[in-house]
Amino acid sequence: MTMTKPAGRARWGDRLVGYPADRAEAYRRAGEWTDRPLAHRLQDSVDRYADRPAVTTDAGTITYRELGRRTDQIAAGLLDLGLSPGEPIIFQATNRLETVLTWYGCIKAGLVPVATLAAHRGHEIGHISRAVGAVGHVVEAGLSFDLVDFAREQAQGHPTLRTMLTIGAPAGEGTPVETLGADIAPDDARARVAAVQAEIDPLDVVAFQLSGGTTGVPKVIPRRHVEYWDNARLYARRLGWTEDTRVAHLIPIIHNAGISCGLHAAHSVGACLILATADVTQAFPLMARARATDVLIGHGHYQAVASPAFDEVRPVLRTVILSGAKVSSELFERVDDGEKRWAGQLFGMSEGLFTVSPHESPASARMTTVGTPIADTDEIRILEPGTETEVADGEVGELTCRGPYTIPGYYDAPEHNRMAFTSDGFYRTGDLASIVVIDGVRYVSIDGRIKDLINRGGEKINAEEVEQLLVTHPNVANAAVVAMPDPRLGERTCAYLVTVDGAVLSMSEMREHLQARGVAKFKWPERLEFVRAFPQTNVGKIDKKRLRADIVARLAETPDQ
Ligand code: AMP
Repeated sequence: MTMTKPAGRARWGDRLVGYPADRAEAYRRAGEWTDRPLAHRLQDSVDRYADRPAVTTDAGTITYRELGRRTDQIAAGLLDLGLSPGEPIIFQATNRLETVLTWYGCIKAGLVPVATLAAHRGHEIGHISRAVGAVGHVVEAGLSFDLVDFAREQAQGHPTLRTMLTIGAPAGEGTPVETLGADIAPDDARARVAAVQAEIDPLDVVAFQLSGGTTGVPKVIPRRHVEYWDNARLYARRLGWTEDTRVAHLIPIIHNAGISCGLHAAHSVGACLILATADVTQAFPLMARARATDVLIGHGHYQAVASPAFDEVRPVLRTVILSGAKVSSELFERVDDGEKRWAGQLFGMSEGLFTVSPHESPASARMTTVGTPIADTDEIRILEPGTETEVADGEVGELTCRGPYTIPGYYDAPEHNRMAFTSDGFYRTGDLASIVVIDGVRYVSIDGRIKDLINRGGEKINAEEVEQLLVTHPNVANAAVVAMPDPRLGERTCAYLVTVDGAVLSMSEMREHLQARGVAKFKWPERLEFVRAFPQTNVGKIDKKRLRADIVARLAETPDQ
């Protein structure tokens, strides 16, 4: 006998951690939580800004009215495919209008988007889709890797995956979102969305994001209706956005920063999202043509901003937010002219917390710190690592936080949650930070990190996950993966290997090995170093600090291995 799974919070049961009642109450009182489903909040903007531009891409512009109508139809089309509210849908699509339409279409149908990336492969998708019980898979065709074929493979023998949705695929390949629901009368589609939304519990999950992770497998981050749209609205409020703002986004829109600081933030205030790609030869001209006023620049694009190519778009921009790595004075001055163009910084994570430079803060604070938290009810504490003892202002410790849009726990990870949160519910970010007081304001400065990951142009690579994969090669006895500095991406991955009987593993053998295991390419080490044994700390752990220093020295000698 098959059982129909419940749609609401009951579906997830004790795999979700709830917010304590007193904090929930405080967030509602502060107006930073809203007990309405996300699709209702989107509809408010559709009604209010109907004829304003909602999304601009290289392919053209759609208005809020068109966005509302088309996403209603997609939602009704998804329901007609037999998908039911509460069911998770894996996303593997790049920055295209159809990605946005499918995201909202799913949410309107009560489905739960899972923010995986087009770059993910079987190792990641196989694990995550099973962890959440995904039933649908959105894939973009026409990329260098055949995601349509991949989706077909993934569905084989999968316990829950049954529906493939395609973007840009030839006829006959799954269900194309371009035409999905297009023949459903707009009023009918609206009524069906309204019926689904009437049943939604605002405390339920609206989307799953993925954590960069601190242990072997990526953790799943449940974001909820009650907080997710407000999170974005608070970001837009911090930057003073209005319906006249035109926000460009170049990094993957599906990342939490894309959804929260790009898509939802723009639409929470009636602004236009200019959806570009990471390729600046396409992105900068589009931004210039569409007269982008605001942009978020990740550290993978710091070099492009310093280059002459940025001159094309610089004159139209008013606000540039830099994020991901320390900002040099040259970079800051390139985007902040002290008059018309304002630069600030952002620190954020899919688990929640965003800190952003406040508008009125002096240039010194905007250049050297990542600002202050965006919600009034956000709380941050800097703790001595591994303890619950707060350090004094100015001292470096682990950044911990709790607040209206920071998760109280990962999905289905009780053991990990015990380590990842303090006894009073502060999330341990794994980042090193200090409080810098300037003119009486307490700003956050990011000073490094404790967690063992590589930040490759914004994509986080979990060292332990890669090490575990490398040691499955028969020639590898032990592996230690560290970040090596890279001028363009900030960091790239170097693997130190101890091989069995001193055997050698070529770069191509290592790649073949990871490819065979279906590991996303951005996680593949880009340099190999062979050692007899790893340096140890005095507590008998691999001394990664020494390995990082070693690779810096080796890079100076042999930049290209
Ligand atoms: P994600 O969840 O992928 O957005 O990654 C969040 C992590 O990115 C944080 O915990 C930091 O380690 C890193 N990060 C985000 N913003 C910054 C920043 N402005 N400076 C340094 N690291 C950052």
